[in-house]
Amino acid sequence: MDAQGTKAALTEISAIKVVAPTVLQEVVDMAIQIHGGMGVCQDTLLPNFYAQARVLRLADGPDEVHKTMIAKLELKRQGFSRSAKSDKA
Ligand SMILES: Cc1cc2nc3c(=O)[nH]c(=O)nc-3n(C[C@H](O)[C@H](O)[C@H](O)COP(=O)(O)OP(=O)(O)OC[C@H]3O[C@@H](n4cnc5c(N)ncnc54)[C@H](O)[C@@H]3O)c2cc1C
Repeated sequence: MDAQGTKAALTEISAIKVVAPTVLQEVVDMAIQIHGGMGVCQDTLLPNFYAQARVLRLADGPDEVHKTMIAKLELKRQGFSRSAKSDKA
């Protein structure tokens, strides 16, 4: 974004919106697992972190929407585009 602007970075922006919350959720999940039962009780903040991580996969748009955007941009970059006929369908 800094080097080429937001428009040029649309794929990367959509990708990080999928990757960052997913990695956060996986990391918190691993932290819960190594803490055993304590990881899911309210003596730690891990259950809160897990809920927050899960929310992130919706709050800035669902994963599916970002993945669809990536697919559309990538198909366009590769020279595939929807025909006028399929747009109307
Ligand atoms: C804590 C929190 C904070 C939020 N903050 C903001 C905010 O600051 N500003 C703001 O504008 N919004 C905010 N939102 C709203 C958030 O962007 C929406 O909840 C999100 O876009 C999903 O919309 P929805 O809840 O209507 O679910 P729906 O649109 O009904 O989606 C439900 C599910 O359907 C599927 N889905 C939806 N659309 C598609 C699609 N196009 N392709 C494939 N699958 C799809 C996905 O699996 C999705 O999870 C916030 C939400 C939460 C929970």
